Amino acid sequence: MQNIADVNSQYLEQFKYITALRDKLLSYYGYTPKATVVTFGCQQNVSDSEKLKGMLVSAGYILTDDETETDFIIFNTCAVRGHAEDRVYGNIGKVKALKKANPKLIAAVCGCMAQQEIVAEKIKKSYPYIDLVMGTQVFHRLPEFIYKRINGSKRIFERTLQNEPIVEDIPISRDGKYKGWLPIMYGCNNFCTYCIVPYVRGRERSRDPYKILEEAKAMVKAGYKDITLLGQNVNSYGKGEAHGINFAKLLRMINDIEGDFVIRFMTSHPKDCTIELLDTIKDCKKISRHLHLPFQSGSSRILKLMNRYYDREGYLSLIKAAKERIPDVSLTSDIIVGFPGETYEDFAETLSLVKEVQFSSLFTFIYSPRNGTPAEKLPDPVSREEKGKWFDELLLLQEEIAENNIKNTVGKEFRVLCEAKADTEGYLIGRTNGTVSVIFKADDSLLGQFTDVRIDSYNGSYMGTKI
Ligand code: SAM
Ligand code: SF4
Repeated sequence: MQNIADVNSQYLEQFKYITALRDKLLSYYGYTPKATVVTFGCQQNVSDSEKLKGMLVSAGYILTDDETETDFIIFNTCAVRGHAEDRVYGNIGKVKALKKANPKLIAAVCGCMAQQEIVAEKIKKSYPYIDLVMGTQVFHRLPEFIYKRINGSKRIFERTLQNEPIVEDIPISRDGKYKGWLPIMYGCNNFCTYCIVPYVRGRERSRDPYKILEEAKAMVKAGYKDITLLGQNVNSYGKGEAHGINFAKLLRMINDIEGDFVIRFMTSHPKDCTIELLDTIKDCKKISRHLHLPFQSGSSRILKLMNRYYDREGYLSLIKAAKERIPDVSLTSDIIVGFPGETYEDFAETLSLVKEVQFSSLFTFIYSPRNGTPAEKLPDPVSREEKGKWFDELLLLQEEIAENNIKNTVGKEFRVLCEAKADTEGYLIGRTNGTVSVIFKADDSLLGQFTDVRIDSYNGSYMGTKI
């Protein structure tokens, strides 16, 4: 294992490439080149893309979303479901025409799809116009790879997954001014039987708590008012580390930073969601009253097949403990419909759990077989059409619950962060420290500030009045 000093010098190596690239790019293109980062998938990818952008800007590129005027394009991909992968192939196919118009365009693919050997091989054979393929643990080497390619290197395929300590101090170009992502850990050790993440992101690796604290302080100082701590399973933060700071302690340390801001986090695994964590949320004023706690299935039999390490009763008693301690908590969850071998009776247990808990919102997915996962090999007799009917039934139930949630929300007053301008001139979008977004009339000068709003009505979005 490397020590921290070695890791820092690992990024220093990239600073050398950034400096060299800055000189090289101008002579290669004859103008300041543009770069485009296309992101698919989860918040972790959005956060990684902010680092890709940071490195590109440091190397001298101007960022653009217009693919027709770009000189470097990178697709940061997602492999969690088949649908996400299909969209990526559709997108990288477009590069052929872009390269015809701009032969000096460099194209790259990174992220969870790029980490898979089968995908890298397919790109090697069928997409000859893709110059670079980078796995999830080497993306900090982007400046080096671009530099080498411009200097005549062959196409680069680098997918090393050695679970080494996290490389710190990568430049970041954040997308938002008030809301920001703060990754605290990478990878996953849980091996849920349906999930590709542990194979493509490697083992759980937690960032140094003082590096996280330093970044959080810098974000608050820069005006960020809404900071989301990110990881595949944030509540196993710090496991096995000598510093002894677990997720609840880390939250308290961030809560102690001076300033007015909200701390959010995702995702939490029910098996690691402790009473200590619930008490921390209860005690700390800056922590959002929102718990995203994916349960995946309401059937204990299916949860066992999924390798989730909790059962229906365990999940429900955790929800009870959360509601007792944090009465205004907003609960959200992820659900998979149609896991191999799931019967309608199992699915009915998912419906009854949804009815019982009354979530604020749900992220629902039809099971998608993933190459190399144990679930892919299980018999899966229920047709896609039948699973689609179950899925619609679940959506219908959640719509009924949402109506209830709306009734309980309209008429209430909330403190919101003014996050963005609404489509209608003179209106802003604000978000509570839970999950509610509201549109209200207010001056742009309030952007990035907290204000109190009463929610008056709902017509697809909540409408409110500034108090
Ligand atoms: N680490 C988080 C957790 O355990 O809750 C979730 C990360 S995963 C990227 C986000 C969600 O995708 C999961 O909670 C699950 O519901 C869904 N998912 C993962 N693999 C899937 C698959 N093979 N088919 C359908 N949905 C899947
Ligand atoms: Fe995938 Fe399970 Fe890890 Fe979440 S906890 S990333 S669902 S393996």
